[in-house]
Amino acid sequence: MLLYSRNKFFYMVGGIDHWKRTRKTHGQTCAGLLRPESLAFKYGEYVKEGIMIKTLRVMLIPSNEQSTRLFQFAGTARFAYNWALEAEKKNHEAGNEFLSDCELRRLFTELKQEEKYSWLYTISNNVTKQAIKDAVGAFAKFFNGLAKFPRYKCRRYDRPSFYVDSGKIKFTGTHVKLEGIAHSRRKNRQYANWFRLAEHDRVPVNAKYFMPRVSFDGLNWYLTVGIECGNKVSEPKNDGEAFDVGVKVLAVGSSGQVYGNINNSKRVKQLKKRLRRLQRKVSRKYNKNKKGGRYRKTRNIIKSEKQLLKLSHQLTNIRTNYIHQVTTEIVKREPSFIVLEDLNVSGMMKNKHLARAIQEQKLAEFYRIMQYKCEWNGIKFITADRFYASSKTCSRCGNVKRDLKLSDRTYHCEHCGAVIDRDFNASVNLYNYGKKLIINH
Ligand SMILES: [Zn+2]
Repeated sequence: MLLYSRNKFFYMVGGIDHWKRTRKTHGQTCAGLLRPESLAFKYGEYVKEGIMIKTLRVMLIPSNEQSTRLFQFAGTARFAYNWALEAEKKNHEAGNEFLSDCELRRLFTELKQEEKYSWLYTISNNVTKQAIKDAVGAFAKFFNGLAKFPRYKCRRYDRPSFYVDSGKIKFTGTHVKLEGIAHSRRKNRQYANWFRLAEHDRVPVNAKYFMPRVSFDGLNWYLTVGIECGNKVSEPKNDGEAFDVGVKVLAVGSSGQVYGNINNSKRVKQLKKRLRRLQRKVSRKYNKNKKGGRYRKTRNIIKSEKQLLKLSHQLTNIRTNYIHQVTTEIVKREPSFIVLEDLNVSGMMKNKHLARAIQEQKLAEFYRIMQYKCEWNGIKFITADRFYASSKTCSRCGNVKRDLKLSDRTYHCEHCGAVIDRDFNASVNLYNYGKKLIINH
């Protein structure tokens, strides 16, 4: 890719200029591009020829005691992050130069020695170290024009999370050891450092781990960890494929496969209905317990909101799982290249009629997952330019029909008389686009 050109197969049509131009306009897709399991991007120095970092995410099953500690760790990480922002701001107001993370960490150690902050000693040093690095990184992103001015993390709205030292993390088939969770250093108390994993034998034992990160999504704790692995050696030999991604069906392939819309399935419809009902229930409860113009949160509301969260997570999981199934199936056919249209997701999100459908289909996610799976398997990933008229062109004779409406589901060519399904026509065009590009290179 362009920012860390480690994949010689990656083509960004239009070159670097195109990339720079579009980076700001379609945040969604680009966030995906910048985040091919972001470790590779962040840890560019580790990325050499033949080495690739895959990210895995596994759910933890903490005991009560452990879960309390996890919240403490996350809270401390937030404290250190906010402290670093504050220090940087004050420093700037005093007219001094920007503080590096080394200096900040030195100041933080001084802070620890104050009696008021002695509680910081109960939390692993690596947690605050990484949080301060993050804060400095947030400023760096801002200075490079990649992000807005860093803001304080909030206990109520930000997802609790923290980093663990990659050198000290240990895996067995069933458990993971996180450093410093146990309160005591006594040998018979060390079991508290070991967390049960929800999936056994998922994370390889004795691998090289990168940036392990623990986060809470409102219901469960997860561990995300990067693992070094070799590139796939053999290059896929089968013919390339192109996909027209859309709202009605997820994707239509150039060799005729149709991947339907998961949201039309019975299960998802059922869950969506239940979700809507529950939302109404919660809203009613809020109105009922309103006192003097103020909404109050009762225990029953908290209970229902938890149910609501569970349901929406279930829906998200079903959708993401479907995308994983589709992309894996495509990649397993080992096509030599894959063409997708450059989706302008954030642009399409502005269209209120399309916004919900796109969100429910997780199109940006499809794009992102497709891309990294291509990268993992040595498949050339091609994005067609956004202005390439894939739907308006006739795939048989190349005639461009200017007045094609979104409601026209079949393509009638005035020039050669071809009658083709609209999405299939588009995917064939995308295929030709990719084929031409491959031959020219
Ligand atoms: Zn035609």
